[in-house]
Amino acid sequence: MSWETVIGLEVHVQLRTRTKMFCADRTTFGDPPNTNVCPVCLGLPGALPVPNAEAVRLGVRAALALGCTVHETSVFARKNYFYPDLPKGYQISQYDRPLATGGAVEFESPTRGRGRVGITRLHLEEDAGKLLHDRVPDRTAIDLNRAGTPLAEIVSEPDLRSAAEARAYLQTLRQILIFAGVSDCSMEQGSLRVDANVSIRRPGDPRLGTKTEVKNVNSFANVERALEAEQLRQQALLESGARVTQVTLLFNAGTGQVKPIRSKEESHDYRYFPDPDLPPLVLHPTFVSEQRAALPELPEARRTRLIGAFALSAYDASVLTSEPALAGYFESVVAAGVEPKTAANWVIGDVMTSFNQTGGFSVEPSRLAALVNLVREGVLSHRAAKRVYAELGRAADETPRAVAERLGLVQVSEEGALVGWVDEVLRSHPNEVGRYRAGESKLMGFFVGQVMKRSKGKADPKGVQPVLADRLR
Ligand code: ADP
Ligand code: MG
Repeated sequence: MSWETVIGLEVHVQLRTRTKMFCADRTTFGDPPNTNVCPVCLGLPGALPVPNAEAVRLGVRAALALGCTVHETSVFARKNYFYPDLPKGYQISQYDRPLATGGAVEFESPTRGRGRVGITRLHLEEDAGKLLHDRVPDRTAIDLNRAGTPLAEIVSEPDLRSAAEARAYLQTLRQILIFAGVSDCSMEQGSLRVDANVSIRRPGDPRLGTKTEVKNVNSFANVERALEAEQLRQQALLESGARVTQVTLLFNAGTGQVKPIRSKEESHDYRYFPDPDLPPLVLHPTFVSEQRAALPELPEARRTRLIGAFALSAYDASVLTSEPALAGYFESVVAAGVEPKTAANWVIGDVMTSFNQTGGFSVEPSRLAALVNLVREGVLSHRAAKRVYAELGRAADETPRAVAERLGLVQVSEEGALVGWVDEVLRSHPNEVGRYRAGESKLMGFFVGQVMKRSKGKADPKGVQPVLADRLR
């Protein structure tokens, strides 16, 4: 018998601020432990939180980018629990009055085509500290630098129907947040974290099954693996006549297995109440509409525009919009005079390879345009241009032509030189010359290849063929 999987995700993203949610400590990643702390985020008695306006602004932007309604009034609440990484004994979050509700994300499902995931809510909260289990032998150390880091929690409706779909949704969500400039969404640095809720049911059953929650999985691939493992665990339970109980699980990336760690807590366990130190957050409607107007072009709109304006394929457009910087670079190369499809090939090829390695662009768009023009004018072969490109990043004040000349890559189309190479080739292949003259005309390709080889790639192939034809007559 078959089962349908139902998934809803709770995604925590770190908002791109310089300082923390309720105090002025820095949020820099990788600082020495416990150096970015103060009475507020250490929870010392009498210290008072002050909301970070930039975090609020970025939260509003994220909500608008996801099509949510931003509420004029939202309320910070205390979520009470004990854990060593939580010095105050509570986390400041938002509960029954979140910043925003009711949005949606459209995405490409690997199984169902174009899909839509409802966004239940987006709220602001602060992060906890970090327990370090490998720092001190037989001890657990605590680094509170993260405590108080601003987060937006984005809760989806249970609209996803497979582990692969959950991954595709996450990728789309991440792209939107990066384009909106609200978070860098780096899973390695913990600025995007996912709690995945999953249940199964019989296809056609309108009721939802009992869900479980897999916590804090550290890559999109592992979210998919963890959900697949959990869905199978639930199937085995139900098929053996047992029931699924509401549990929280951890995923072990080494074994690929999920393990229940505790029974699920209910929201009343947290004793939520409005934080008496923080008045309700009231946003002026003008502020919200300004943020809406200032929203940059989002990935979907940009893809559509690239396809329309530059006649790119859907594939090229989606690769180019995988990062806003790449799309911007591509548009600059086109603006510098390169034909769009040629520009797209360069950016998706050599440019992206080095961008993925270094996170930046070593060759300015105008220099790439100059290089591409050398190919168009027949000065360089495409192969030679790729070699020049590799060198250009290191040779910041040399023009592409100067680099090509220095490397001896400029194509020779001058007839005298071509005739010299052609005659050498014909002299050393009398056999093939005889066969060619007897009518085996496909040997032309062989001769061109030999000339290119003899010239070490410098002969202009467009010029070689007429010379060959002439000498073979
Ligand atoms: P909780 O109170 O347990 O945190 P919520 O109703 O807040 O539960 O939902 C948390 C997440 O779990 C949401 O993303 C939601 O879409 C998802 N979810 C809720 N019920 C189910 C279910 N039966 N199966 C799968 N996901 C679910
Ligand atoms: Mg929840």
